[in-house]
Amino acid sequence: MDTFRIVELFQKKYGKQPRLFKAPGRVNLIGEHTDYNDGFVMPMAIDRWTIVAGTPREDSKVNVTSITLDKSVSFDLNKPGEPKRGEWYDYVEGVAQALLKSGATLRGADFIIDSNIPIGAGLSSSASIEVAIGFAFLVLSNLPIDRIKLALAGQNAEHNYVGMNCGIMDQFISTLGKKNHALLIDCRSLDYKTIKLELSDFLFVICDTRVKHKLSSSEYNIRRQECEKGVKILRKILPNIKALRDVTFSEFNCHANILPVNVQKRCKHVIQENLRTVQAAEAFSKGHLGMLKELMAASHRSLRDDYQVSCKELDVLVDLASFQNGVTGSRMTGGGFGGCTINLVNKSNVQEFKASICKEYFAQTQINPEIHVCEPSDGACEII
Ligand code: ADP
Ligand code: MG
Repeated sequence: MDTFRIVELFQKKYGKQPRLFKAPGRVNLIGEHTDYNDGFVMPMAIDRWTIVAGTPREDSKVNVTSITLDKSVSFDLNKPGEPKRGEWYDYVEGVAQALLKSGATLRGADFIIDSNIPIGAGLSSSASIEVAIGFAFLVLSNLPIDRIKLALAGQNAEHNYVGMNCGIMDQFISTLGKKNHALLIDCRSLDYKTIKLELSDFLFVICDTRVKHKLSSSEYNIRRQECEKGVKILRKILPNIKALRDVTFSEFNCHANILPVNVQKRCKHVIQENLRTVQAAEAFSKGHLGMLKELMAASHRSLRDDYQVSCKELDVLVDLASFQNGVTGSRMTGGGFGGCTINLVNKSNVQEFKASICKEYFAQTQINPEIHVCEPSDGACEII
């Protein structure tokens, strides 16, 4: 990403040479709707970033301009504004307040932000702005970077300042991402393993449906409740379980008949998706691409039929991918009801894949999709 524009603007506005920081967006390779069931997820950081240019100030004032939105705001670290204003700067002030609360002595700062992550597409522009700003605040205040604490500060900003009750995955991968690797995260213990992505000639291609159906947040809450209900009922027979994570597939098969049909389907997805995620980590690290194709297809089917969080546009993209040359895996990624699919496509077929998907998707939906070829990348850092 070109840093010339942001540096030039910073110098013009503040008459100083800024330091530069960046934090990536992410895509989840597999492990969907498993996070709030204490299960496994496997995201990778992508080569799309939020960049922050900044210099410290002598007072507690913070000035922030977003080039992306063409908007500016000022606030004082010592006089926190109201949370949940529904504004882009909730993310920025939220992370500053979370870091202060955790004991960090932050200096005021002048910041300019730029980004090449599509906003609201499910690639987590929000975690990346939180992490990039948090990283910049810490370095400019001469404080050490604890990547896990930084991720938690980003999540805290979403919970308390934005009002989005998200898990830790997005902020975790944005701070801890590693080039050519994904992270297998245990959402119960927050233990994580870096997983080498042995892809031979295959690339990750993200296809954005460019739709976000209104259902997504209400249905999300309903799914969470259905999973909790499943645990509550199963606990009568399996008293030691705390979450669906603790139920084996054979236990589920023995006792599924005591669950209402919908709850049964939701539990089946979560229990099997956890198994698929652990298997996919092994398949990625060994380069077993045929196995990945099956796991990704099974994940999509399960999200579509059992968890019922897909939508027409996502299904069209996954169906279209299955007819293309050189594709070894395609599934919806993210919470569903819109957003993106993730595809593994042979390098030599990427151009024809893009052209064909764009044409056919438009023919079926009258929407032009957005297509991003992405590489697994490092987490947040200072750009030297
Ligand atoms: P996603 O994380 O999937 O991209 P969200 O709705 O969670 O979508 O977060 C998007 C919001 O994050 C934007 O509406 C905006 O408030 C904030 N945001 C993200 N990137 C920027 C940016 N570069 N400048 C200002 N605000 C941003
Ligand atoms: Mg987000």
